Formats: sequence, C-alpha cells, structure tokens
Amino acid sequence: MTMANGERTYQFKALTGLWTGSVTLEEKNGQIKEKTGPDRLITTGMLGSIRWWFEVLVRGLGGNACDPSDTKCEDRNHCVVCELFGCTGWARKFRFEVLDENSGTKTDQIKHNQTFSLCFTPLRPIRVEEWTLLDAALRLIVEYGAIGGKTVFKPTDESNRAGRLHHNDYGLVQMVTPQQYDGTGRDDLGKYLSKWRKLNHGEFAWASLQHFWCVNGKYLARQNGNSSAFNCVIGRPEPKQQSGQNDSWIAGRRPDRRNNVEAESKKVFSFKDPARTFGFVKPGLIDFNIMKGRLTNAWGQNGWDFLAGDKIIDQLFAGKGDRS
Ligand SMILES: [Zn+2]
Ligand SMILES: [Zn+2]
Repeated sequence: MTMANGERTYQFKALTGLWTGSVTLEEKNGQIKEKTGPDRLITTGMLGSIRWWFEVLVRGLGGNACDPSDTKCEDRNHCVVCELFGCTGWARKFRFEVLDENSGTKTDQIKHNQTFSLCFTPLRPIRVEEWTLLDAALRLIVEYGAIGGKTVFKPTDESNRAGRLHHNDYGLVQMVTPQQYDGTGRDDLGKYLSKWRKLNHGEFAWASLQHFWCVNGKYLARQNGNSSAFNCVIGRPEPKQQSGQNDSWIAGRRPDRRNNVEAESKKVFSFKDPARTFGFVKPGLIDFNIMKGRLTNAWGQNGWDFLAGDKIIDQLFAGKGDRS
C-alpha cells in the first residue's frame, strides 16, 4: 500500500483464481481451454465487482445506491455510489488499474497464489467518506465475500468431478498489507450517506449488508449423486437429474429465452479452499434464523460462526471513528 499523488494502492494475493469476466472457459472433450480477452475487460470486471460490493455496503449503512443496470442517476442528479463510480453525464472520480507483482499492467487472468494490486488514482477530489467506504468495501470482499462474477460455481467433493470447470472456486483474495488509512467513523458515514439522492431499492433491496451473512471456514458441497449439502441449503431437490425444476429467489434462475425469462443469480455462495460460505436473505421470504437452521442441518451445531448484518458492519468499522 503506497500513497503518492493521493493515489491508493492495495496489494492482494489471490487465494483462488479470479474470474473477472475477461476469460472465457470452454470445455471440449473434457479439456478446459482458456481464452483471455483484452486487458480492458479485466479492469472492467474487477471494477464492476467492487462497485457491486460498494453498493451492498452503502445500502447496509442506510444509504441509497442505484442498480447501475437500471438507473435513473444522471448528470448531477445521482446517488452516492455514482458520485464516486460515475454514471451518464458524471465521470468516475478515479483512474482504476490492476497491476501485477512488478507494478506492470495486468493483462492476463489472475491465477491462484499470484500477487496483484488495485490502484485508485484520484482524477478529482475524493472525500474522506468516499475513501472510507471504498476501503470498507474492499475489506468486505476480502474478509466475507469474493471478487469477480463467476460465483455461480459451487464446490464438489466428488473427486472425478473436482477438476471440472464449473466446480472450481473463484474469487477469494487476501489483502497483503492490512489497511492503515485513517477514515471516518460509522456515525459520520451515516450523516454523509443521508445527504444523497434517495431512491426505492425495489427488487434490489436484498443486496444490502443488512441482509448479508457469512460463515468462514465452512463450505457446502455436492457429496455424491444423491445428497448435496448445497442444494439442501438453497432448497433445491437433491438428486442431480431434478435440479433446475425448483428455481427460486435463493436458488437463482436459469434463463429461458423462449419465455423471455432472464437469468438470476443464486443467493448462496460456497467456496471449498479456503472454505467460506456466504449469502443473502430476503425480508418476507427467508430470514437469518431460517438460513442458520438450514446451515445447522448441514454442519451441525458447533464449530462455526454465523456472522450477519450489523455484526459484520461492526467488525468492518471496529476501531474507526476514534482516529483522524
Ligand atoms: Zn446511482
Ligand atoms: Zn458438474
């Protein structure tokens, strides 16, 4: 982590490969082929993921964040997230670079155990509250979430299938240098967030830290052909042949072009190595208690911690506010 010209660089180690949307994987005759897209796409995928977690954090702190795929933010009339990340008529406030271990531009996919850096260079003044939120969003990814868009994959215990691409883990990272920036306390952040454009989160209300949970050190797997801890938790029928007949908010949805149904992400994500399981609940549909009960069915009562909502926010901002 360095500070020159007001830029901030965070160094990470990839604990798994990262999937940033720049690489297409193809499975042909049992062989996996990788095609790397242009560097621009690595940056775009990474930035999109950081923005998504930033939105989750902002909503969790009581702020308002638009859904960039369906936003009315424009020009000066925009939400607090667009203020930093940009929208139509309002440029992003920073230059974003993904650097390799020699500080060169990262052009290929980030692989397991590689060190890389994310560099944020201000193009216009960035407020201390914005830096604090960005910093917390990065720690949220590192300590409780995952980066990249390929979290549709879930792990498997079946050794003959473990190498298949749709069962690999992607997106877990470690921060090499712990963050040491001074920031704003949670109360001041709340005041700052309340000043920005209000909007109805609608279909996106669940994508908030208030509805987020995480268990570190545990994973859900498909153990064999007939019993799957993962499907048990998301409520899908367990035998493989039946998967997909029971799509739901939590299980996600496969696209159906004929009937104009778009794909929807599942809301439980599980990683085997290192082990981590996280997800979201939805008010009125499934709450933390029900989720915790389903996880207890999979893992038993002891040996794991269910962290959720405010407890995670408290941990993210522990020690903040009495500094700076
Ligand atoms: Zn916005
Ligand atoms: Zn499979």
